[in-house]
Amino acid sequence: MSAHKIEPAALVRAFKAFAAAIGKDNVFTAAEDQAAYSDHYAADDTLHRPSGAVAPGTVEDVQAIVRIANEFRIPLWPISRGKNFGYGGPAPVVKGSVVLDLSRMKKIEIDAENGTVIVEPGVGFFDLHDFIQSRKLPLWLSVPGNSWGSVAGNALDRGVGYTPYGDHAARICGLEVVLPEGEVVRTGMGAMKDSPNWQLYKPGFGPSWDTMFCQSNFGIVTKLGLWLMPEPESVLGLNIEFDKPEDIGWAVDVVAPLRREGIIQQSPSFGNWMRAAAVMTRREQWTTPGKPLDEGVITAIRRQFDIGWWSLSVRTYGPLDINEATLRHIQKAFNGKPVLSMKTTRWAKGDAPMGTPESGTPISFPLANANWYTGRGGHVSFSPVLPARGDLALAQFRRTKALYDQFKMDYHASFSMGERSMTNINQVLFDRDDADMVKRTDGLFRTLVDDAKARGYGEYRTHIEYMDLVADTFDFNGHALRRLNEKLKDALDPRGILAPGKSGIWPASRREKR
Ligand code: ADP
Repeated sequence: MSAHKIEPAALVRAFKAFAAAIGKDNVFTAAEDQAAYSDHYAADDTLHRPSGAVAPGTVEDVQAIVRIANEFRIPLWPISRGKNFGYGGPAPVVKGSVVLDLSRMKKIEIDAENGTVIVEPGVGFFDLHDFIQSRKLPLWLSVPGNSWGSVAGNALDRGVGYTPYGDHAARICGLEVVLPEGEVVRTGMGAMKDSPNWQLYKPGFGPSWDTMFCQSNFGIVTKLGLWLMPEPESVLGLNIEFDKPEDIGWAVDVVAPLRREGIIQQSPSFGNWMRAAAVMTRREQWTTPGKPLDEGVITAIRRQFDIGWWSLSVRTYGPLDINEATLRHIQKAFNGKPVLSMKTTRWAKGDAPMGTPESGTPISFPLANANWYTGRGGHVSFSPVLPARGDLALAQFRRTKALYDQFKMDYHASFSMGERSMTNINQVLFDRDDADMVKRTDGLFRTLVDDAKARGYGEYRTHIEYMDLVADTFDFNGHALRRLNEKLKDALDPRGILAPGKSGIWPASRREKR
């Protein structure tokens, strides 16, 4: 058997063994199953089509599957709920892999006093929200803009949300992981049997492994510890509109120090008018197909939604008296600046629930932006990280917008403010049924990656199709980081069965594929 090929006969035997181990009802090999576990936003979803899927119910099932995969050299692609839209959904890098669908594992263990939870991978944001609400626990989630997915999968892919707990990977505290050869480990304080500190103290003793399992292919996470935000007494905020594209420059310079100083504790995000237009309307409402969105259209969109060229929402969380002082401080920072409009928002305990992601309520309606074009829609996200500086934001906007124009695509961008950096998240929307647009989307994406790399900016996360491209840009000392990752990969996964190619990390047997 060649080292890297998925042998059809081995696959058949592996599927038989999977069925014997976890029950045939939990093994999916029909053509419609393969299609269901493909990337629903891909122009050609056969490029990363899996051979099928297996759905374990317990950690022992996961171990049994891993052992079978090792025996038959079958690559597994773990997913929690597989809703990673824009990054590949449930689909694997290597075509023909078997998707390890963990969505049946749905246990939730909450420590209400300490505000921590252990979730199994199948727990969705809606599940955890319902669980907390039905018990009236004073804890809030942080949810991503599309909250259809899982708490664990999103944190492991370094997803982000809107509250002070919005850096999801940073709130992980303790994992249970099945290693690629089947051993179960617990990280941090969980490495000590029955430790009461597993979800309370992140580092543990010695090297800290939680982050090693984020965006990696070193293990299958079967339990994920996470900190939850105690329900705040109040949430105050500002919704700020900016009239001109150039306003992004000075406005970033107002927000960046407030983030650095910890005065603003969540990540405010500047988004352009496309954010509202793409979710609430379709392109055909505004212009004819093939015509660019000119100034007239942009003005009409802005008028319909009463928004600026950029919109920014800032929220502060905590005791009311502290929040009021914080809000005044933030307002003062904008004093004398040419904002188009600034509205305050206010919620205090006892008010009707906000029901928005700012209060950790899951939503999925932003997925509607896939309908922007008339055909079957999709998007791919280009998300470089930059220093949090206004001049760099303005330059990034100008260069990126010019490239969108050159490739005849609609500019859709946000700048999400971190504590020291900002992430320029671009959702490149496209029509999967328009072959020319699909080609332009790919061209734009590759050009944007090169453009960012020329300035030393790397992506924070990427689609399965572009993992090698992006990993290639991390090139210090002849890609020393990749060598380190792959040394580790070979040690942990000698038969290269777990998610080969994830984040550009290939096992020895498949490295020539790069
Ligand atoms: P969600 O459904 O929450 O959006 P996905 O299940 O699509 O998340 O997974 C997002 C990414 O994280 C994928 O690259 C996937 O391979 C990885 N991933 C998800 N769950 C696990 C897990 N339990 N263990 C290891 N990697 C995982």
